Amino acid sequence: MVPGIHLQGEMKSVLKVTATLQKLLYSGSDAPQRGTVKFLRHMAMKVASPPPYWDLSTDWIKQLKAKLFTPGLVRIKATSAIYKAIEDLVKKTWRPDLVGEGLDAKGLSHKDIKVSKIERIENFDLYRKYYDRRQELFKEALKNRSPYKDIGSLPGSRGPILTTKKAHAALKHDDLYPEVNEHYVFHGTVPEVAEVIKENGFDVRNSKCGMLGQAIYAAEESTKADQYADKRAERNDGDKKIFLCRLLFGDVMIGTIRPKDCKKPPCKDPQHADTACTQFHGFYDSVISDREGKFREFAVYDSRMVYPEYIITYKRLT
Ligand SMILES: [Zn+2]
Repeated sequence: MVPGIHLQGEMKSVLKVTATLQKLLYSGSDAPQRGTVKFLRHMAMKVASPPPYWDLSTDWIKQLKAKLFTPGLVRIKATSAIYKAIEDLVKKTWRPDLVGEGLDAKGLSHKDIKVSKIERIENFDLYRKYYDRRQELFKEALKNRSPYKDIGSLPGSRGPILTTKKAHAALKHDDLYPEVNEHYVFHGTVPEVAEVIKENGFDVRNSKCGMLGQAIYAAEESTKADQYADKRAERNDGDKKIFLCRLLFGDVMIGTIRPKDCKKPPCKDPQHADTACTQFHGFYDSVISDREGKFREFAVYDSRMVYPEYIITYKRLT
């Protein structure tokens, strides 16, 4: 569990020593000030560990079991600060005025939604892929000796990502990293696909070539994610599920260009923005589609850039 150190002995003692070592290695106390080059270096070097508020982080027996058996699904208590923060975020990003708007909202006319259950997916194997991808972004930022440009201040941006702006501190902890444009976002999908994502995370290869290419799409408003929680032709009153995911935006392009090469984000060379670039000019990491009066939509082209951390179960209220 601790890289480069091999421990042997009675299981109980090994776990105890491991926990102490982990605490020493991963404690945030020696972390440099956020946003500094020192901090970028710290994050570029840090060994992968689960987010500090996961049950998995504090309970090493659970972690050991999770390594051997199926990954954990932790039910969040309705009285906890995290539950309230997520429920609150769903409410604060609900747009009753836009419920039936657009093709994807066909057949919808409800006024509100009500959260009934929240679970956290504590799948460390899956999270580690995300962690490693985030670390690649930190390495890139370190190379540039500067954090990624903040989405709210990019030219053409309508402002900060709402889910982050409106999220309560209990949800963000200190474990969300604006230095690499990491944000919580909503993702809605039909129940069958939600089951697959719950077990295996996102797989961009399953996506069709949509408006912004073959990508994983996400939203900052619960209203938008809700549109995809069932099929347009088969709307029903049953329980619905949407995900609250961590998403790495990295280097963002704001625009509505559908890339010619569906599988890749747009090339950074403006002359190649809407063509299939075969030279290596470097690509953006994500695209934000921002049209006035519409929901913003987010797209990433790499499955490792999204981690489905929470599953929110809810009902539509008419
Ligand atoms: Zn190019």
